[in-house]
Amino acid sequence: MEKLLYRDSRNYVPIDVTKGIDHLTGETVMADKEAPKGYEVMPKCKNCANFKADGEQMGVCEGSMSEPKFFAYPDMVAITCDMYKEVK
Ligand code: SF4
Repeated sequence: MEKLLYRDSRNYVPIDVTKGIDHLTGETVMADKEAPKGYEVMPKCKNCANFKADGEQMGVCEGSMSEPKFFAYPDMVAITCDMYKEVK
């Protein structure tokens, strides 16, 4: 995986679209800043092996059993998805 941004880390809680709190240090950080090494990846569709991008903002879940496959978008949080398979 390429560099991990705070906004894509599980160790980050957003305050608004630009900033949030680093859970491990308690500091306010920018969402687009690179997270320190060792921070956990937030399960999101874009980090899932079942996600197939269709343009920059949309995609399809290849794990879907329905036809047509259901839409997914890259930043959709997938903590509750049983089919999530993290791309290594
Ligand atoms: S399996 Fe879940 S996390 Fe993966 S792309 Fe489909 S909806 Fe997203």
